[in-house]
Amino acid sequence: MPPMDADQLKQYLEFYRDLGIKTLYERKNPQAAPQSHDREGVVSAGPETVRQSHDREGVVSASPPPVSSVPSGEPLLQILQDIGDCTRCRLHAGRHKIVFGVGNERSPLVFVGEGPGADEDAQGIPFVGRAGQLLTQMIEGTAKKEGIELRREDIYICNVVKCRPPDNRTPEPDEMEICGQFLYRQLTTIAPKAICVLGGTAAKAITGHKEGVTKMRGKWFQWRDIPVMVTYHPSFLLRGYNQEAKREAWEDLKKILHFVYD
Ligand code: URA
Repeated sequence: MPPMDADQLKQYLEFYRDLGIKTLYERKNPQAAPQSHDREGVVSAGPETVRQSHDREGVVSASPPPVSSVPSGEPLLQILQDIGDCTRCRLHAGRHKIVFGVGNERSPLVFVGEGPGADEDAQGIPFVGRAGQLLTQMIEGTAKKEGIELRREDIYICNVVKCRPPDNRTPEPDEMEICGQFLYRQLTTIAPKAICVLGGTAAKAITGHKEGVTKMRGKWFQWRDIPVMVTYHPSFLLRGYNQEAKREAWEDLKKILHFVYD
């Protein structure tokens, strides 16, 4: 866990609460990879903290919530170094490359997907397969149509889990818990103006809301103080029958691009 003041610690614990985790354990030796036998020194937010903060989480509204930035953290490189040759969860066994994230560290807009697929695992870069190509087209195409000058490299893209789940299955809650600390630190460091979450799994992990993506898309939620827009995952949009969903995803993107870049 990075050094943090009481407010940052509270936010950190709330992040895990959103992932469905009520109790965290502090490692005695921060250099060592966490193992189950390391699990000493319980750090718990306590039910009161959890309940109180829940009221201001995941606010759904027609317009974005007011922006006030979370404190920025350490450089992304530090986070990457801390991940190291990670063996913290079972996903390490089948991975070729850790897919940390790509793009502009100072981007006002971050896209968060679920986890790497085969192409990403081979290259170590998020969203480079078919879904990634569609995502790039959607971002650049929508921006261009809306008169916003924006290339994929101008934004930042990452995933909830950094290693490919076998057979592209959905990441398990404990995998998201373990990897979630790094996503937390990435988002805290970048402190974007808005976050675009791709698909239901990432949406649940980040907003704490349990509805399906069809209900959540197009609405504003919140991660800490940062506005979050949920939209469909590009892999879902690649399925031929999803013309209406494609149109909706374009609408969602327009909304977030104008919010961030106008
Ligand atoms: N799907 C994701 O959620 N992330 C990627 O990086 C690629 C596909």
